[in-house]
Amino acid sequence: MTYYCSNCVVNWWPYQATGGCCPLCGGGTSRRQEPASDDADELHRAARAEAERRENYAHFETYYAEREQDRRAA
Ligand SMILES: [Zn+2]
Repeated sequence: MTYYCSNCVVNWWPYQATGGCCPLCGGGTSRRQEPASDDADELHRAARAEAERRENYAHFETYYAEREQDRRAA
C-alpha cells in the first residue's frame, strides 16, 4: 500500500508519508493499492534536505533576532 499525493503525482511509501501527509508539499494523500513511484525515494530525500535547510534558517533568524534585542536593551 502506498500514499498517493495528487498534487505532486507521487506514490509514497507509508513511512515517507508521515501522518498521511505528503513529505513534499505537506498536503493530504490518499491510500492506493499501487507500488511506490520510482522516484519516491529520491524525492523524499530531497524533501527532507529542504526541511532541514528551512529549520537551520529558522534557528539562524531566531539567533539574530535575539542578538538585536539584546543590543537595543543595552
Ligand atoms: Zn504532495
